[in-house]
Amino acid sequence: DPLMLHQGERVLRTLLESGYSAYFVGGCVRDELMGRPVHDMDIATSAKPEQVMELFERTIPTGLQHGTVTVLMGDYPFEVTTFRTESHYEDHRHPAAVEFVDEITQDLQRRDFTMNAIARSLDGELTDPFQGWSDIREGVIRCVGQAAERFDEDALRMMRAVRFSSVFGFRPVKSLWRALIQGRDKLTFVAMERVRAELERLMLGPNPLRGLELLRRSRLLHYAKLPFKEGDKRSPGQDGQLQALSHMPADPQELRWSLLLQGLGISGYEAEARMKVWTFSNQVAETTADIMRFDEAWGEIKARLGAAGSDRLRRSWIELQLHYGQMISQLWLERERQWLACQGSAGKEALLRLNEEEMRWHRDVPVHELKELAIRGGDVLAALGQRGGPWLGDLMKRLLQLVAVGDVPNEKELLLDYVKAVVKQNE
Ligand code: ATP
Ligand code: MG
Repeated sequence: DPLMLHQGERVLRTLLESGYSAYFVGGCVRDELMGRPVHDMDIATSAKPEQVMELFERTIPTGLQHGTVTVLMGDYPFEVTTFRTESHYEDHRHPAAVEFVDEITQDLQRRDFTMNAIARSLDGELTDPFQGWSDIREGVIRCVGQAAERFDEDALRMMRAVRFSSVFGFRPVKSLWRALIQGRDKLTFVAMERVRAELERLMLGPNPLRGLELLRRSRLLHYAKLPFKEGDKRSPGQDGQLQALSHMPADPQELRWSLLLQGLGISGYEAEARMKVWTFSNQVAETTADIMRFDEAWGEIKARLGAAGSDRLRRSWIELQLHYGQMISQLWLERERQWLACQGSAGKEALLRLNEEEMRWHRDVPVHELKELAIRGGDVLAALGQRGGPWLGDLMKRLLQLVAVGDVPNEKELLLDYVKAVVKQNE
C-alpha cells in the first residue's frame, strides 16, 4: 500500500528531524524483502514514549510500560516502540521488565527470529546484524541467539516458529528444531489466548497442513491442547479430512476449524467445549460445532436411507436444515463442495450429484422460520376456540415442516383446514 508507506515515512521523518533515530522494523521489513504484501508497519525509535506523544498530534498510549505508542498519520496507525531490551522473563512468558536503550542493534537482539530482526532506515539502508536477509533468501527460520535460551525465556516463540514455517513454507534450522523438542512442554506456561492467536494464523494461512505436521512431529499439538490421538503415527496430512484444509476458504474461519476438529477425531458434541478451552468466542465455537453436528447427523441419515434422489432423503434434509438454520446448512454445503473438489475419483460422481441435489433442496425450501408461515398461533387458537399451551408450539413447528417439505401450501385457509382435520382425528 503506497499510501501507508508514504505516511509511515512521514512518521520516520518527523522523528529524525527532531534528532531521534527511527527505523521500520519486524514483519514489514521481512515481508517487503520477501516480496509479500505489507499489512502494517512497525517503527522503532530512540525517542521515549512521552517524547513520541509530544511530537505527534494524534497518538494512542497502547502499551506505555513496554514503550509502545500508536501514532495515527493520515488515518493509518503505526506502532512506534522505543528501542528496548527485555529481561526477567518469568515462567517462560512475557518479560517482567523492559529497559529502554539507545541503539537499534540492541533492540534487534531481543527479537525472536533473524528474519524478524532487520531494521530499514528512511533511505532504505538495512541494519541486519544477524544475517536475517540471508536466512530469508535460504528460506530458513533461525532464532536470534541460542534457540534453547530464547524458547526458555518465552515459550510462545516455539509456536511462532511453526507458524512462520507454515505460512512462509520455511524450514526451521536444526538447532532451532532441537531446542523446540527439548523445550516443548514449557508451552503450557503460555496463556491460551497467545497460543491460539498463533494457531489461528497457522490454520488460516496458505498451508495449514505443513504447520499441523510440524506441530505433530514436535508434539506441540499436545501442549497446545490439540488432542491429536496419542500414539497415532499418521501424519495429519495423510488424513482425508485434513487433506482438504488447504483448499478450504479461510473465511469464514469455521469451515477450517470444523474440518480440523473432525480430522483430529473430535465429535461435534465435544467441539464446542474444546473451542472454548482455546478461548474462541462463543459464536465461533457454536458455529464450528454446529457444522460438525450437521455433518454427523446428515452422514447418519444418508447411511440409513441410502440412494440419492429418494424423497425421504429430501425430507430429512429439509428437517435438518430447519433444525440448524439456513446459515449452518449453507456453510456445510460450501464445506462439502470444497471437500469434494479435492477427493479422489472413487464414488465421486455420485457424491457430486448428491451435492447438487442438496444445494437445490437448500435453495428451494419455501419457509425457514415460524414467522414466515401464513398463520400465527393466535389464528389457530381462534379457529379451534381453545386456550394456548405447550401443544401450540409443537403444532406450529409441525406446520412449518409440512410447508417446508411442500406437503401443504403456505396459505392460511389450507393450513387451518389441516389443523382442524388433525384435531378431529385426535378426538
Ligand atoms: P505478522 O505479519 O504476523 O504480524 P510480525 O513479525 O509482524 O508478523 P508480530 O507478532 O506483529 O509479528 O510482532 C512484531 C515483531 O515483534 C516481530 O517481527 C518480532 O520482531 C517481534 N516479536 C513479536 N513477538 C515476539 C516474541 N514473542 N519474542 C520476540 N520478539 C517478538
Ligand atoms: Mg505484525
